[in-house]
Amino acid sequence: MQPPKIASFQPPRRTLMGPGPSDVPRRILDAMARPTIGHLDPAFTDMMEQTKTLLRYAFQTENKLTFPVSGPGSVGMETCFVNLVEPGDKVIVCVNGVFGGRMLENVKRSGGVPVVVEDAWGRAVDPAKVEAAFASHPDAKILAFVHAETSTGAQSDAAALAAIARKHGALVIMDCVTSLGGTPVLIDAWGIDAAYSGSQKCLSCTPGLSPVTFSQRAIDKVKARGTPVQSWFMDLNLVLGYWSGEGKRTYHHTAPINPLYGLHEALVMLAEEGIENAWARHRAQHEALKAGLEKLGLEFIVPEAERLPQLNSVTFPEWVDDAAARARLLNEFNLEIGAGLGALAGKIWRIGLMGASARRENVDDCLKALAAVLGK
Ligand SMILES: *Cc1c(COP(=O)(O)O)cnc(C)c1O
Repeated sequence: MQPPKIASFQPPRRTLMGPGPSDVPRRILDAMARPTIGHLDPAFTDMMEQTKTLLRYAFQTENKLTFPVSGPGSVGMETCFVNLVEPGDKVIVCVNGVFGGRMLENVKRSGGVPVVVEDAWGRAVDPAKVEAAFASHPDAKILAFVHAETSTGAQSDAAALAAIARKHGALVIMDCVTSLGGTPVLIDAWGIDAAYSGSQKCLSCTPGLSPVTFSQRAIDKVKARGTPVQSWFMDLNLVLGYWSGEGKRTYHHTAPINPLYGLHEALVMLAEEGIENAWARHRAQHEALKAGLEKLGLEFIVPEAERLPQLNSVTFPEWVDDAAARARLLNEFNLEIGAGLGALAGKIWRIGLMGASARRENVDDCLKALAAVLGK
């Protein structure tokens, strides 16, 4: 067989303002280019400990069991569900967009009995509906919801939802893939038992790692399981020996060494900025973008009080060819924005202001590019 004549890949330079990945700062890419060492090397395990400490800061938690799962946000999601949901467990699952739908799928595949609370796409989860679901299903063991629904740009009141679950003695699983680092995520203050995020959204790292955190209540439920977790890779009982085996770390799988350098750097940068400042920066850039989008006549689909600063969903004029407009943004302006997903495909654009992408230059460039494709 002849060797294929293919040269090294040189990606084009883009400005990433979609639903993730976000722009990755040079400093993080440089960190990832440092020498690969063994994953059981003491220098590496020291870095793993630092990463856990940094993640606790990002999640605002004292949870010991806080670490990055080796896999994208979807693997973090599955890790939460396969460990916490035992066959026959009743789970109240809130669906107000694509990712709530994936939670539902996870509940079913884990053998759970789902009770679905539905809300319109583009709206927050309604706490009154969750309260009603617990009233009809007092035996529900878990409440699951998406804090920041990236498919629509709606943010739900996590504190209120978690309080309802607490009152009914249920555990809480929260998706904070898009919220972590961009808008307050207060795991301990809210009483969240299991949460998962992603490296490539407001943390501005490359995709492929999923920070997770588990409360003692969650760990107790996993330890008390009558049936083994059906996934060997995601079984927390086994992963624990790797990520928290103090001094006696044992092989479970080979950690993605260099991507973890990148996440470590991203988290160091978040700590340097201060998480409250990062939240404020996302908010400020959202305000600037919002003013410009409204001037262009683009309308938000989410009511103002329920809007995520880091994910702006707007409708566009009927005469605009969605795919052609986004292709023009990409080819002429090197700008990526997100298309609609699921039921909103072809109906909206999703403009992300996540992590390093949440800066004034990006907002200005995006507004200029949009004005051009809209003929303004
Ligand atoms: C992006 C995203 C995910 C999935 O993360 P991947 O890294 O793409 O697997 C899950 N939930 C939400 C809310 C997301 O925005």
